[in-house]
Amino acid sequence: MTEPVAPEVGRDFIRDIIQADLDQGKYKEIVTRFPPEPNGYLHIGHAKSIALNFGIAQEFPGRCHLRFDDTNPVKEEQEYIDSIQADVHWLGYDWGKNLFYASDYFDRLYEWAEKLIRDGLAYVDDQSQEEIRLSRGTLTEPGKNSPFRDRSVDENLDLFRRMKAGEFPNGARVLRAKIDMSSGNINLRDPVLYRILHAHHPRTGTKWSIYPSYDYAHGQSDAIEGITHSICTLEFEDHRPLYDWFIEKLPVPSRPHQYEMARLNLTYTLLSKRVLTQLVRDGHVAGWDDPRMPTMAGMRRRGVPPAALREFVKRIGVAKANSVVDVGMLEFCIREELNRTAQRRMAVLKPLKVVIENYPEGQTEELEAINHPDDPTAGTRKITFGRELYIEQDDFMENPPKKFFRLSPGNEVRLRYAYFVKCTGVIKNDKGEVVELRCSYDPATKGGNAPDGRKVKATMHWLPAATSVPAEIRIYNQLFANPSPDAAKFAADLNPNSLEILSDARIEASVAESNATEPMQFERQGYFVRDKDSTPGKPVFSRTIGLRDTFAKEVAKG
Ligand code: ATP
Ligand code: MG
Repeated sequence: MTEPVAPEVGRDFIRDIIQADLDQGKYKEIVTRFPPEPNGYLHIGHAKSIALNFGIAQEFPGRCHLRFDDTNPVKEEQEYIDSIQADVHWLGYDWGKNLFYASDYFDRLYEWAEKLIRDGLAYVDDQSQEEIRLSRGTLTEPGKNSPFRDRSVDENLDLFRRMKAGEFPNGARVLRAKIDMSSGNINLRDPVLYRILHAHHPRTGTKWSIYPSYDYAHGQSDAIEGITHSICTLEFEDHRPLYDWFIEKLPVPSRPHQYEMARLNLTYTLLSKRVLTQLVRDGHVAGWDDPRMPTMAGMRRRGVPPAALREFVKRIGVAKANSVVDVGMLEFCIREELNRTAQRRMAVLKPLKVVIENYPEGQTEELEAINHPDDPTAGTRKITFGRELYIEQDDFMENPPKKFFRLSPGNEVRLRYAYFVKCTGVIKNDKGEVVELRCSYDPATKGGNAPDGRKVKATMHWLPAATSVPAEIRIYNQLFANPSPDAAKFAADLNPNSLEILSDARIEASVAESNATEPMQFERQGYFVRDKDSTPGKPVFSRTIGLRDTFAKEVAKG
């Protein structure tokens, strides 16, 4: 694809608001937070939020907190807490001392709930979840008051304390704010503040039998931490009046403001923890860090450099309207970064044996290969040329069409860093498949140039048969075949060809010996990174990304 047009980088409506607030002297310091719920691994949508919140704290005087929004113990796990911290660090950001948990505030949130009851602003409702849902009304119809709405303060306090003490089973009662059942904004129709849940919490253990709702916990946590700008995604725009209602009614120590921005959506991708969790649980992928996953752990394993992700979120900017970003834009950023940083090596993904008949048997020679065409400081390395080599199956055709300039009978090509070679014979198996080529080389073309000035139209990569190393290479394509997969029935949209395993590949010995964790470019093939599934006998390499934008064709081919 052509280079995507970058929006004006570095400025957006949120930064404009912050700048104006600073200019007016509203704050000395800007305090933001990234508030993940530890119920899954982070994905690239979170990267946008992290880069925004931590980026703001770097650009303006201020700080950014990492706060776990751990109010739902049923879905939350320590594994997720750990992975989220690792991912934020990997992306290049640091919260320093500012690591917090909403559960740290459970006592205060509880006291404030009692205050709302005493002020006549909250009540215990005995209706079932279903009854509450049905009486909430719709966008066009007002809701109905609960029959329990006018309980006395004393009765409410007594019941709420007994909810806390664990006297009632899950779902028996809830605490609701008493706002307005006929409000045009459904979020203000007596939202639930607390529900009964007898569950073990990763941090508070069994201390609590009631847990606060997101809406109740979130803004108050912001206020406790002195957050100045609380940035969330657009779905929460209609929750802002409720956010402000709590801040107004409670004796909170500061007055944060909520701002909403567009979520990141990507073509061929679903960014929802619910879907990602199901992909893992149902075995559609090999785990949260499967290289096809849009998780940061998956992208890290796949060799995506964090700098490419930072560049991507910078380019997409921060907007007020939702949109879908072409995944090609992400791939473009990955390719740009890797082109700049990745060392070059050679690998043959589908090997075809070549015997150079006029090269003396038993002889070998060391040829020099450059490690990066644009960076001389990356140096050179040696590769061994000899009589028996491998080339790529796709680089040979016995009966080539007109525009095929690579190897074919009688045609001469350049082997990268080595010699001109010409195909002189073809050996086939019983089935008529080409299994080996006979070639001749021109000793005068050492290094890849002919002294007589003759030209060849193709330069091909190759490897020595004797000293190259067998490897498994994994080629990843889009996880979904549909450019806009359906989150409700995503399994039908999965790409059956999202993983292709090439188990007979060969790589340079230097690649096999190195334990480098950085991706490399395998010339003419793309960028690849050593996978953790490697064993001493068999290295495994994953393709981070191909050299060109080819995935659309690959998906279409299916
Ligand atoms: P999901 O919908 O994937 O479950 P979530 O919003 O429930 O995500 P949280 O852990 O609550 O996940 O999100 C933490 C922060 O990341 C929130 O501030 C949320 O707004 C932000 N965030 C989540 N997904 C995206 C996205 N796709 N684009 C931008 N920000 C996002
Ligand atoms: Mg959430």
